[in-house]
Amino acid sequence: MTDARTGLPAVHKLLADAEREGLTDQAPRELVVNAIRKTLDAARSRDGKPPKEGWVPAVKRALEARQRPSLVPVVNATGVILHTNLGRAPLAEVACQAIVSTAGYNTLEYDVNTGERGSRQTHVRDLLTEITGAEDALVVTNAAAAMVLVLNAVAAGGETIVSRGELVEIGGSFRIPTILEKSGTILIEVGTTNRTKLRDYVAAISPRTKCALKVHRSNFRLSGFVTDVETGELVETMTPRSIHVIHDVGSGLLLDLTEYGLTDEPLVRDVVSTGATAVFSGDKLLGGPQAGIIVGPRDVIQEAAINPFTRAMRPGKTVIAALEATLRLYQDRVSALTQIPTLAMLTARQDTLARQAAAIAQRIDGATTEPGSSSVGGGSFPDADLPTTLVAFPTEHPDAFLAALRQHDPPVIARADKGRVLLDPRTVRDGEDEHVVSAVAAARRVRRHPCE
Ligand SMILES: *Cc1c(COP(=O)(O)O)cnc(C)c1O
Repeated sequence: MTDARTGLPAVHKLLADAEREGLTDQAPRELVVNAIRKTLDAARSRDGKPPKEGWVPAVKRALEARQRPSLVPVVNATGVILHTNLGRAPLAEVACQAIVSTAGYNTLEYDVNTGERGSRQTHVRDLLTEITGAEDALVVTNAAAAMVLVLNAVAAGGETIVSRGELVEIGGSFRIPTILEKSGTILIEVGTTNRTKLRDYVAAISPRTKCALKVHRSNFRLSGFVTDVETGELVETMTPRSIHVIHDVGSGLLLDLTEYGLTDEPLVRDVVSTGATAVFSGDKLLGGPQAGIIVGPRDVIQEAAINPFTRAMRPGKTVIAALEATLRLYQDRVSALTQIPTLAMLTARQDTLARQAAAIAQRIDGATTEPGSSSVGGGSFPDADLPTTLVAFPTEHPDAFLAALRQHDPPVIARADKGRVLLDPRTVRDGEDEHVVSAVAAARRVRRHPCE
């Protein structure tokens, strides 16, 4: 019962074997058949070579692979704090608890005092206005959505003035010209890549101008012969002409981190104090769940709130729960800096990092520690130099070693440089040293017996 042309066993033959071995008791028959087809496909791609471990064990392995969850936790030993591929900001403990405790029925849109319908925005609005000094606030799914929404609300059918130096791509295909186009506003470019002056904006004003947009250059810096217009200047010029100023600040920095030498990101409160509307992410420096937050003058927020996009982009209960809990931590600076992982990692003391690195290195044969630098990631503080202490050890095939670390449960994500594997303790969370050490040991066992 083999396929005459390929020499591979027939599906029904493998299914009978699998049934005999009890696989159909472990999983629905359909899944077993899928696993069989997968195993056969794999054999075909090896020119018909049967699996080394035998057909049924191979089918069993394929079946188990299918039953494992796909979204799983990993240990981030890269030192990149806001790693977009690794889920950006890790949530604070209280935010995790809030998600769990409200996962069932909850007061998402319910006022227990009146027994009537409430708004999901009420849970975070007052916190946001308190923390940023804004008149009003609105939360949607992410910052890209927030930009589409707010531009559609205030500038659809009209013109939006943007500096050529700010027509940027943030990554993940977020391009300012595309966002403007999708919002239904017409882009009026002014200035040059490196220099845009107030008079360039003023010269572009027409009866159709609805908005002037500032975009933070999140992931790069312009230096040298550069001129920019401050948000405040823009507001002073535009407001008397009934033109809105919107500032896409990107990262959502809510605390002044100057004392840690971190000065390149705009503080949301400063942007708001100019009278502009600020748009930012919930899962970058703010350190909360994925969300897009708009704060600013009441008329702009109200205009956005009644826009149909708001319904299409509304955040779910898990997001509101985590965001509320995270924002509450901002009511006290010390709580925010110690309990919000993003901020704690960003401001980690060098002696603490050195101690953590030494503790890991001690448990890995041949590992040493050395000075290095971490990065903020997520298009925040691109120039920031965050000195850290790395754990380093040599290996013959660094890329294969990194791949083996990724096969560990939980996967450990590290980096390699010049024939060495590098581990940065800055992004390794409490209690995760264990995983790092055992992943390295397991990877070494695999590397030593590469044929198994
Ligand atoms: C990151 C970023 C965005 C996109 O934010 P998301 O929450 O990922 O949608 C938009 N603008 C700027 C300036 C950013 O840095």
